[in-house]
Amino acid sequence: MQGLMQDHPLLISTLLEHAATSHAKTGILSLDRDASGASLGTLTKTGYRDLAGNAAQLAHALVRLGAKHGDRIATMAWNDRRHFELYYATSGIGAICHTVNPRLFPEQITYIIRHADDRWIFIDPMLLPVLENIFDAIADVPEGIIVMSDTVPETKLSGRIPLMAYDDLVAPEPTTYDWPVFDENTASSLCYTSGTTGNSKGVLYSHRSTLLHTWAIGSPEAVAMHAGTTLLPIVPMFHANAWGTIYAATMTGACIAMPGPRLDGQSLYELIIAAGATYIGGVPTVWMGLLDYLRKSGNKLPEGLRGIAGGSALPPALSEAFWKEHRLRIDHGWGMTEMSPIGSYNMPAKPLTQMTDEELLQGAIKQGRAPYGVALKIIDDDGNDLPRDGKTVGELVVRGPWVTRGYYNDDEANKTAFTADGWFRTGDVATIDEDGFIELVDRVKDLIKSGGEWISSIDLENLALTLPGIKEAAAIPARHKKWDERPLVIAVREDNSDVDADALRTHLAKTLTKWMLPEAIIFVDELPHTATGKIMQRALRDTYADYLEKQGLDGA
Ligand code: ADP
Repeated sequence: MQGLMQDHPLLISTLLEHAATSHAKTGILSLDRDASGASLGTLTKTGYRDLAGNAAQLAHALVRLGAKHGDRIATMAWNDRRHFELYYATSGIGAICHTVNPRLFPEQITYIIRHADDRWIFIDPMLLPVLENIFDAIADVPEGIIVMSDTVPETKLSGRIPLMAYDDLVAPEPTTYDWPVFDENTASSLCYTSGTTGNSKGVLYSHRSTLLHTWAIGSPEAVAMHAGTTLLPIVPMFHANAWGTIYAATMTGACIAMPGPRLDGQSLYELIIAAGATYIGGVPTVWMGLLDYLRKSGNKLPEGLRGIAGGSALPPALSEAFWKEHRLRIDHGWGMTEMSPIGSYNMPAKPLTQMTDEELLQGAIKQGRAPYGVALKIIDDDGNDLPRDGKTVGELVVRGPWVTRGYYNDDEANKTAFTADGWFRTGDVATIDEDGFIELVDRVKDLIKSGGEWISSIDLENLALTLPGIKEAAAIPARHKKWDERPLVIAVREDNSDVDADALRTHLAKTLTKWMLPEAIIFVDELPHTATGKIMQRALRDTYADYLEKQGLDGA
């Protein structure tokens, strides 16, 4: 017997329709700036009712251009109002919003646009040079380029492809749209992994997967978003859909303080104050930038702020600094583009006021537990399940309605991405405790294999960062004759610090056993970062894998 409840497909357009009717006046906030980019101290606000009207105009314009169900429409843009409208207009008409990460290498962007076969590209005027640079290699792909502005600036693309200004494109269109109703399993958006561990691979989300993920992350077990929240998504809308926070804000009627292209500590601080941000999402590198600015300027964050760090491990030293200096507890989240992306969230089990500092900070180290909807477990090399005892280490595999079941047009990648019984292999190595909390040890590819034992690069990096004067640290495997691989730590000093390798080694030796200590420690001015703000382990390995051999430290 079937239940007798109504059957409405879960469609992305319904999020914006809901916000427009229930939260008409809240919506997007952005800081007004002069031509040089300096803040004018005033905010522009666009309520959800107007955003829905704008998205309707854009949807009509896309249909006028000839956009059909399943067409890929690329965006190369920062977090701003027009990008928000693109999210909803493209998916709303059954097309696919393909967010391209403009910070990737030119060859990767070329590969991604060609692989996705994007019909149009919507681009921020600031990013036109990126497209000019690769245009020869993609000229046959898009039909036109829409510059996300009121005018089309001077560009080398003129005369080579139809170019339009976003505002001109949408201006003649009506502000209501009768959003079509279709199967909730229809593809809604496409995002490529940033290729930290190889070629970029496309993850194709559906309306259903997006809405289920949105419900889960907005819930009190995760981001706990509500109409009183003012979200500051520092994580870009091209990085795994800004971790789903844009959709969750629309679902719950939260305000979104859009940072645009300015992600430096000072600009973020100005926006936090002007918009009254209450919840911030960003990768650890961005949090570090904010902390650096706060320390130099002496400014304090307002009370009551919450935030999430994900994308790479949140160093305990960073957590501690925000808690002790600003009373801001950063929640730790873990996920992957392949998981829409949230796979776990570390929501404190008790109110913060009922915990000691130590309890609170210790609790923040783990990556959290899976929200309802994500099943996860660890397995050994033969695919056997491993115990959830907080000690045993294994590869983390996941499944659930917002986990990918295959990369977009990529048979090669799909061959190895899943276990025989269909769990997605994350490539991450972790422990799971009996309460379900996961702690990431490393990516399989980043583990340091020393004489048959594994050393976690995350552990080494986190510990290095607890020494005052160390600003950033990376641990990588370097080739070693006797032990196969030995850890090498590459560190960056804080400005004005003269901390040296001996001090760092002594510091690490207080906690680690001898064989875990780095074979060598090098100081550099800066570490390379990926397009999503993670330390580029692969580039470091390319440069330093033979460091011990060259220095005669490889036990030969
Ligand atoms: P890419 O795979 O291209 O780097 P993603 O942003 O999807 O793009 O990266 C997902 C990976 O990032 C995870 O598999 C994991 O290795 C790492 N990661 C994400 N969140 C965390 C976290 N909180 N702690 C440690 N690693 C993390």
